[in-house]
Formats: sequence, structure tokens, C-alpha cells
Amino acid sequence: MIKAIVLQPGTKNLRLADWKEPIIQKESEIKAKVLRVGICGTDREEASGGRADSPPGEKELVIGHEMLGQVVEIGKKVTRFKVGDFVVITVRRGCGACAPCHLNRSDMCLTGNYTERGIKGAHGFHSHFVVDDESFALKIPPEIAEIGVLTEPMSVVQKAIEEAGLIQKSRLPSLQNSPNWLQGKKVLVAGLGPIGLLACLVLRLKGATLFGLDIISPDSPRAKILTAIGGTYINDRTITPEKFRKDHPDLSLIFDAAGIAKLDFDLIDLLGINGVFVLTGVPGDQRLVSVDGAKLMRQMVLRNQVMLGSVNESIHHFELGIKDLQSAFHKWPGVVEKLITQRYPYTDFQKALTTHTADEIKVVIEWN
Ligand SMILES: [Zn+2]
Ligand SMILES: [Zn+2]
Repeated sequence: MIKAIVLQPGTKNLRLADWKEPIIQKESEIKAKVLRVGICGTDREEASGGRADSPPGEKELVIGHEMLGQVVEIGKKVTRFKVGDFVVITVRRGCGACAPCHLNRSDMCLTGNYTERGIKGAHGFHSHFVVDDESFALKIPPEIAEIGVLTEPMSVVQKAIEEAGLIQKSRLPSLQNSPNWLQGKKVLVAGLGPIGLLACLVLRLKGATLFGLDIISPDSPRAKILTAIGGTYINDRTITPEKFRKDHPDLSLIFDAAGIAKLDFDLIDLLGINGVFVLTGVPGDQRLVSVDGAKLMRQMVLRNQVMLGSVNESIHHFELGIKDLQSAFHKWPGVVEKLITQRYPYTDFQKALTTHTADEIKVVIEWN
């Protein structure tokens, strides 16, 4: 028996359970010991009785989807892994019935009948051992094993930025032959939590001129990470949109990682001509927002603007994410590590899932 953090979906009933150790059943499977699992808003929502589904016919769900492990056993036909490799396993599994899922793009699933490990219809990673097919697993270079647990949220960021780029490059002739459309472009990231800060890393790696917006003190660790990588911190409580627009009328991209409807509708005003606004934050219930819809539409039409939402990721985005974690790790020594602010042993899972500290960025649960 091993231990696992299990939830009765739809309730706050969370416990550390004795769990059956998973075994390799197919020759293409790997078994990994879980080293650590990151916690995000999705886990906290699940733990507070929000959306989560156990596998068919079961009453409980092992939670956790942002994992890092180490391979301990491989099936006979496994080609890409050996024992001892650091590994990240992806989250979503396709529905098997729609065109995107057939093309290995379950992140674009049309039926909604996909499963997600630790979230929807499939057990997650908060346990001592996990097994999965090697086709859903990615190798993590040993030098970034310490930050490898950031791979899943990093892949969310990669998809959002890639989609924004695909759209811009396909419609703006000036960008069509540019290998890196973000080079020298002004970009703004709203919300400097884990997703926002990872987006900041990626955008700076691509050579963008970066502004990061939040309501924290400029002395907070989150603002300091932004400035350490060459970004400019803007406090939403002190900035006037008119002034920002006047100084920076050429904002090419806004990346939303805040998920606050009122803020995002206000920010559209800052987007430059031909700009793109990508939303990744998922708002909970919030107060109704009142917007001047006609003004907003007028602006978006007259300035050729695009707004898009982006969720989840494909295995390709995991690959891009691992590359960028590695590049950021070398480019800004000691900075990416600072994104992991709290580490709890698995026995303290309740505390990890329910407490919040002001300076918290990424909380992880240690399994070894
Ligand atoms: Zn997550
Ligand atoms: Zn599908």
C-alpha cells in the first residue's frame, strides 16, 4: 500500500488514504515515483467542493496534476525512458471521438468528453507512485529537476503565447517572415501569480519589452522577480490608464493571468493597433461588470484587435515549456527557483491546500 491524497468530488472531504500501488500493465508504460506536485487554483477549487470528477464507478479521486517524478520501472517496449530519468506526465487524455483528439490535440477537444488526471474522471498524481503510457510523459533534464514541477503551468503559458503568435503572424504581413514576432514588442502581463510570472519569463526570453501589472507592493517577491528579468512593474492602484496609453500606444500583446473580469475589460483600452489580448485566467463568480459595449466594439474594430481565450495544452507545449524553463534557468540564475515559495510534506496536505500567505507564488507538496 502507498499513500494518496483523495477527495470525494463535490465535497470538502479530503483525506490521506492507503492506496493500491499502481503497476505497469502495458509494455509501453512507465512507473515513476512522485517527487513533488504543485498546487494551483484548480486543486483549491476541487478541495473546497468545486468541480472534480472521480473515475467512472469510483467514489473518490486522487487529486494533483502538476507533477514531477523519477522513473523507477519501464515496460518492455518503452524507448524514450530509462530508470532514474526525471519525468513529467501530462494531464489531459482525449475523448477518442473528435478530430482534434485524433490529431493529438485534446486541449482543443470538441466533445468535452476528455479526462484529466487529478481533475476529471482519472486519478491524479498526489501519491507515492504513478503509472502511465510513455507517450504521455516527458523527460526533464536533471539540471532543472528542482524547477521541473513548474512544467505543467509553463505549458499552459506556452500554448497561450503560441496561439497569440499564430494569429498575429497569419494576419500581419510584417510578421510573416519573422522567426520571433515578439522581439522588441511591448507586452503587458496582468496578474503576477505563477502563470503570470511564467508568462513574463517566456516573453522576456523572446525579447519583448515587458510590463507586469498587479496590486502588490513593488518590494514584494513577485514584483522583484519581474524586475530581476528586466520587466517594469506597474501597480494597478496607482497607474492611470490614460497615462499608460499615452506613453505606450503601441502595446502589442496583453496576457491575462488575473482572471478578473473588471480588470480585463478595463485593460482592453490599453491594447495598441493590431494588438492581441489573450485570456488564461478563469474567473469565479464575480460582481457584474458594466462596460461601454459600443465604445469597446468601436475600438476593437477600428484598431484591428483580437481577443482570445486559451486553456490546457498539448504535449508540444510541454516540450516548449521544458526548453524555456531550461533557458530561463541559465539566463537568470537563481530566479526561476524563487517561484517555488512553499514546500509542504504530503502529511501537511490540508495546510498546503487551504492556507495562503501574502508572498506565496507556487506551493508544492513533497512526496519524497
Ligand atoms: Zn494547475
Ligand atoms: Zn475530443
